[in-house]
Amino acid sequence: MMNALLEVRDLIVEFKTRDGIVRVLDQISFDVNAGEILGIVGESGCGKSMTALSLMGLVPTPPGNIAGGRIAMQDQNLLDLDQEQLRHIRGSEISMIFQEPMSSLNPVFTVGEQIAEALRLHEKISSKEAMDRAIDMLQAVDIPEPESRSKAYPHQLSGGMRQRVMIAIGLACRPKLLIADEPTTALDATVQAQIFDLLKNLQKDMDTAIILITHDMGAIAELADRVAVMYAGRIVEQGSVVNVLMEPKHPYTKGLIDCVPHLETNPSTERKRLTEIPGVVPALDKLNQGCAFAPRCAQALSHCNDIKPQLDSVDNAVNIELDHADKNQELVACHLYGTTGNESQGVAG
Ligand code: SF4
Repeated sequence: MMNALLEVRDLIVEFKTRDGIVRVLDQISFDVNAGEILGIVGESGCGKSMTALSLMGLVPTPPGNIAGGRIAMQDQNLLDLDQEQLRHIRGSEISMIFQEPMSSLNPVFTVGEQIAEALRLHEKISSKEAMDRAIDMLQAVDIPEPESRSKAYPHQLSGGMRQRVMIAIGLACRPKLLIADEPTTALDATVQAQIFDLLKNLQKDMDTAIILITHDMGAIAELADRVAVMYAGRIVEQGSVVNVLMEPKHPYTKGLIDCVPHLETNPSTERKRLTEIPGVVPALDKLNQGCAFAPRCAQALSHCNDIKPQLDSVDNAVNIELDHADKNQELVACHLYGTTGNESQGVAG
């Protein structure tokens, strides 16, 4: 069996606060295969961005601390590497693009210089060669007149163009994995669709795996192959996008889907009115012992507040005929599906 490109197992991240140790990631496990797009979805404060920072070796330490688990990129545990080795991996093997390009791009250098710099950090090439390749990358991300645009400063470009430049920097060294953290949040719907198309095409052309981090189930439907739904620092549902969107299991996943306008779920059911998930994500230092979603869950059972449900496979996860669906990849952490209080989070992939 082929090994995954990235294997995350039982990852625990804790932060030291004045009130004690707070666990922000609680036994997160997932795989990313070469060339696939995994979506990680959840509201703000669910742990999505902290997962990305952990993969990049960028958890601020202290006060943060990776307290357990394993992050293996092609069988190499990134948690065993020192800062110098991690710097080398960042950009060449794993790269990340952020939601607001203006805060990531340097205002005093042209965009061509910034892409060329990213290349020269990882490859022994001349300035001229780096700039030629920077212009090629601008062309690859569909920026018109790439040669003249390479001489532009970030403030001279539109928001959509700046995000394209960030994607060009992220992909310049052809990393095996690109992490895109809310890459289209600041953009309007038309530009958002263009950026999604661009990411999809580049992923196919370069065979780059992508982790898409978003609060928006609509973005997951557009772009991802598989999805992990996060709530309060844990993964609560994981599976193929088709299965999770058509037959969501966890009440939180259903709530996220119901928040999205025009998102088709099961076509056999009438389209429902948009609803909001009542309540807010709980503070991580005030969690109950059981299911963190219980205070917001309309289907909570009597023991939900006290017993933490395990992320486990759902035997009857697929009620629809899907050629490419794999029942073994459908996981959910919810007592409605008979999962128990076992501590392990399990894994799909
Ligand atoms: Fe709701 Fe209980 Fe399932 Fe949590 S475990 S999502 S509270 S039914």
